[in-house]
Amino acid sequence: MIKYTHAPDIQKLAEEIVEKLEWNHILLEHVAFIRSFGSSARRTIARCHALGKAMQIGMGRKKGFYLIEVISEKFDKLPQDEQLRVTIHELMHIPKSFGGGFIHHNKVHDKSVEQVYNHYCNLKKDTALYESRNVSSDKENKWF
Ligand SMILES: [Zn+2]
Repeated sequence: MIKYTHAPDIQKLAEEIVEKLEWNHILLEHVAFIRSFGSSARRTIARCHALGKAMQIGMGRKKGFYLIEVISEKFDKLPQDEQLRVTIHELMHIPKSFGGGFIHHNKVHDKSVEQVYNHYCNLKKDTALYESRNVSSDKENKWF
């Protein structure tokens, strides 16, 4: 039996990624994040699901809907940087059109994920530097 729970921690991570990378095509209000337990998939760490076009039209939706599932037994064992890579990988499957299709593994692969991962880490580092600089200038203002 597979069990599913919502994964607000993954959602938060994804929000940070989408914001930093300015991936404005990813409409996070139309993306769900789920953690599954007891999946029999042996080699899968995470999956990106889409609501197909026919279902979208049948449901009277104007936008796509995506779901990112992490498989707890695999994903939760990974170190943080790997979890970040996996989350970036899954988000990269979502196309610009947000229409229900996927970007496939010819474009979403280790090399392209690594590029995005490095870019993201650099953006984060810049923010951290900027924030620490602000803190020290605050101190200066107080002391002198
Ligand atoms: Zn993939």
